[in-house]
Amino acid sequence: MNLPTQRSLRRPAAHARIARGLVAVVALIAAQVWVPQAQAQAVNLYTTREPALMRPLIEAFTAKSGIKVNTVFFKDGLLERVKSEGAASPADVLMTADIGNVVDLATNGLLQPIRSAEIESAVPPTLRSPEGTWFALSLRDRVVYANPATAPASLTYEDLAKPEWKGKVCIRSGQHPYNVALVASMIQHNGIAATEAWLRGVKRNLARRPGGGDRDVARDILGGLCEIGIANAYYAGQMKSAGQGTQARQWGDAIKVIRPTFEKTGGTFVNVTAAGIAAHAPNKARAIALLEFLVSDAGQRLYTGIDFEYPVRAGVPLSPVMEAFGPLVPDDTPLETIAAQRVVASRLIDRVGFDQ
Ligand code: FE
Repeated sequence: MNLPTQRSLRRPAAHARIARGLVAVVALIAAQVWVPQAQAQAVNLYTTREPALMRPLIEAFTAKSGIKVNTVFFKDGLLERVKSEGAASPADVLMTADIGNVVDLATNGLLQPIRSAEIESAVPPTLRSPEGTWFALSLRDRVVYANPATAPASLTYEDLAKPEWKGKVCIRSGQHPYNVALVASMIQHNGIAATEAWLRGVKRNLARRPGGGDRDVARDILGGLCEIGIANAYYAGQMKSAGQGTQARQWGDAIKVIRPTFEKTGGTFVNVTAAGIAAHAPNKARAIALLEFLVSDAGQRLYTGIDFEYPVRAGVPLSPVMEAFGPLVPDDTPLETIAAQRVVASRLIDRVGFDQ
């Protein structure tokens, strides 16, 4: 997830390319500044999350525990890196976004099962692996951004394929992991045939070719190109909280957030960010302490406050911007079940020529 810098707002594709190119450089720098003697009281974190989110979380953890966190930031290639390091990997905690990425870490044997009463009481069973290999840290609901002037009061995901939305829908690439996961969930709810028909319907309704990022849905609603679109709610939180007069704020103010639901369950699709303990973690006890902090009340407040993601822990207050989106009823389909449908979902998206 990127914070809404001017560059990422205008040039998401270029930003992603530059960021990918920096991975090797960041890894190299991290290797050079690694201080072995500090590791006696340290824990090593590999994460794909943004530094702007992680730094306050890490500082709060270190202030509370006295444990230093050595962080390696990845845009891509976290799994490949840990795999290639093998048993010699210094990684203690692996943290990433999207259920697919999390399950990939687990099925590649890169995470070890752990037990922690603190984590298990904070994270509901549907948001962690039954084996204890991964635990969700935050939720991100995939919602509809709508032109406030024409927004319906409510909407189902299935509604997006209806002819009344012809020429009015904007969305990023169907093959982006955020959309693949949504389509995988649709398959889990309605089956493959109905999901294919739904994808064809949504494609017929598109106002433009799928592309850009989630924020571009807001941009194109402001520009009058589309009336509604699919995007993650946290981007709306970021844009609506951006400084007055900024481009991001203009886009945020141009949209209303509607939480669609699946017809059968009445729940809204949520993806996760998650973490687990690396299979060969040299500092396992400190790694568990870090996870326990991240799901604590203090840790969870930072997630929602900085990033507009939903807490996994009950009773954590939301920012006013998030409160304004209304109550969230997360769909309770097990995330591992959804992850298992990713390949079928991706093939369906191709079969209907969604991105063409
Ligand atoms: Fe994101």
